[in-house]
Amino acid sequence: MVSKEALSRRALQIAERLIREYPDAKCRLDFTTPFELLVATILAAQCTDDTVNKVTADLFKRANTPEAFAALPTAALAAAVKSTGFFRNKAKAIQGMSRMLLKDFHGKVPVEMEDFVKLPGVARKTANVVRAAAYGLPAIITDTHFIRLSGRLGLTKNTRPDKIEQNVMALLPEAMWSSFSHAVLFHGRAVCAAKKPACDRCAVSKLCPSAFKFPHFRKGVEK
Ligand code: SF4
Repeated sequence: MVSKEALSRRALQIAERLIREYPDAKCRLDFTTPFELLVATILAAQCTDDTVNKVTADLFKRANTPEAFAALPTAALAAAVKSTGFFRNKAKAIQGMSRMLLKDFHGKVPVEMEDFVKLPGVARKTANVVRAAAYGLPAIITDTHFIRLSGRLGLTKNTRPDKIEQNVMALLPEAMWSSFSHAVLFHGRAVCAAKKPACDRCAVSKLCPSAFKFPHFRKGVEK
């Protein structure tokens, strides 16, 4: 069994390499305020950042404050965000979140995790996206890429996002959490794809217990 110290050392090497590999990795959602980012992050569930950015480019001209979103007719908001998928639920979550901000948080997006997760439609991942990108706070962002890669890289055996977050937080210094999260996301998109990871051009293959252990790398299997 690998000791906690050895795992921590390997995690640190992986983080250093990936952060070096993706020095410009950051949140790709367009926003000008924490509130805009919170809305964009809710819309980004099961949707690409590019589609969200197209939608919010128009949407934020119509509304970009909790007051304005709370006042929009729900059907109009749902229609405006339709192309992001799950649009009725997302419209309801954005309006519920806006109303709670007005009622309980003086219209301001909170900073503390315990406050964030009280908001409708806001789980820890969404909160961590906003905490990292809008407030510059240390955060492990367990999106779909992070969940897949942290398992492949052997940084956790857990599959639950909250447990993965805790495991990785325990392995790395706080100062690396956000930059590592963004680097992993970029690496997941560019190299370590869900179906056919490109281990042959991966910057951390020597540190990865899953390297080359996929069907497309086995002899005689069509690539
Ligand atoms: S070696 Fe392969 S599985 Fe491991 S992180 Fe790199 S691309 Fe992903």
